[in-house]
Amino acid sequence: MKRLKVDSVIIGGGMIGLALACGLARRGQQVAVIERHKQPELPQQPALRVSALSHRSRSLLKGLDVWSKVEGFRTGPYQAMHVWDKDNAATIHFDAKEVNQQDIGAIAENAVVEHFLWQVAEEAGVHIIEAEKWQLRTPVSEQQEHPNDPVRLMTNDYEIDAGMLFGADGARSRVRQLADLPITFWDYEQQGIVANIRTEQPHQGVARQVFLPSGPLALLPTYDSHLCSIVWSADTEVAAELMALADNPEKFAWRVQIASDNVLGHCQLDSEVAAFPLRMQYARQWYAGSTVLMGDAAHSIHPLAGQGANLGFADVDTWLRLLDEGLTGQRLFAAYQRERKADSLVMISAMEAFKCGFGSSNPALKLIRAAAFALPAAIAPVKRKFVQKALGY
Ligand SMILES: Cc1cc2nc3c(=O)[nH]c(=O)nc-3n(C[C@H](O)[C@H](O)[C@H](O)COP(=O)(O)OP(=O)(O)OC[C@H]3O[C@@H](n4cnc5c(N)ncnc54)[C@H](O)[C@@H]3O)c2cc1C
Repeated sequence: MKRLKVDSVIIGGGMIGLALACGLARRGQQVAVIERHKQPELPQQPALRVSALSHRSRSLLKGLDVWSKVEGFRTGPYQAMHVWDKDNAATIHFDAKEVNQQDIGAIAENAVVEHFLWQVAEEAGVHIIEAEKWQLRTPVSEQQEHPNDPVRLMTNDYEIDAGMLFGADGARSRVRQLADLPITFWDYEQQGIVANIRTEQPHQGVARQVFLPSGPLALLPTYDSHLCSIVWSADTEVAAELMALADNPEKFAWRVQIASDNVLGHCQLDSEVAAFPLRMQYARQWYAGSTVLMGDAAHSIHPLAGQGANLGFADVDTWLRLLDEGLTGQRLFAAYQRERKADSLVMISAMEAFKCGFGSSNPALKLIRAAAFALPAAIAPVKRKFVQKALGY
């Protein structure tokens, strides 16, 4: 049995856990990460899971010396967003120029971001331990009674004593369950269908999203001017239909082409098709004892605005800033929770409002939204707010 004494142990080496590990290590902390998978390899073909990274996320990754590596590996900056409703004239278009920026965000493959974060974390001396099974030997009640004592964790090979325990272990967080931190959730009864689609017309750096009665379909522009990564958030029945077409590339691509109003011309399926269940949830309390939640472990939101990973990177960014400001102990925990919970709830509410504004099939709401979106002046402030959120500020 090997013994490790660290300042922080992080459960979960996804994008958020690894970004936190890199940030803490740069501040001189001894850090261990427990992750059930190996380091993701750089995918040979464009991968299915991508994230539209905001300016704020990219500037965090730049500060960690990770973005310069990710940037050269199939990232696609996009300059504009176009959103429309299948059923009526409601449409919204915004351009990075409107807020004096060169782009709104950049599409990056999750596996690529994780690969380079992992590499930089190891170079900074982070111990990354591959383990599916681990036990928490210091329950939260003990952490609360003896806040200055280390938290002990055991894997098959390691006994780890840590000053802090972070749960960055995703939406089904075991850390959150062990810490008994309650969540509020609702199931969208939708699946997020992802695939890569080759298009006849170039996407011209525009992220497009059409609201269908069964849910939104996003066509995200990749590094290749004729390749879009799609996220089709579809009600369960439609999702089952689409998944049944996964073995019939022409029919699947035809559905995408018709659903997206032929906006990029003829479509071809250029990858496998995968589905992810969609659920909104947030932890009502983000810390207990010496345990703190980050990323999807604390909040997971609808992918319609592509903000889940961005919220997680903002958690990391905030934690590191509060540390730099000299906050410690309960003051640090409370300040972190206050700032990040408020920001996540604003994002969740904005997503729900946007879904209602575009997605609803209620005839009265349809009439109101058609009128509202016909008045460009009236939506200018909403638009500006939305662009700011897309940028991550
Ligand atoms: C279809 C879809 C599209 C999306 N598009 C976007 C987008 O465009 N932009 C965006 O910002 N967000 C997007 N998101 C959201 C984004 O993918 C997530 O918010 C983000 O990946 C969360 O990162 P995380 O590190 O917190 O969690 P995860 O990525 O879930 O990572 C958790 C890690 O913890 C590990 N782990 C879990 N349990 C244990 C355990 N018990 N022991 C050891 N290790 C464990 C897992 O193996 C994993 O590596 C999308 C989500 C979906 C479903």
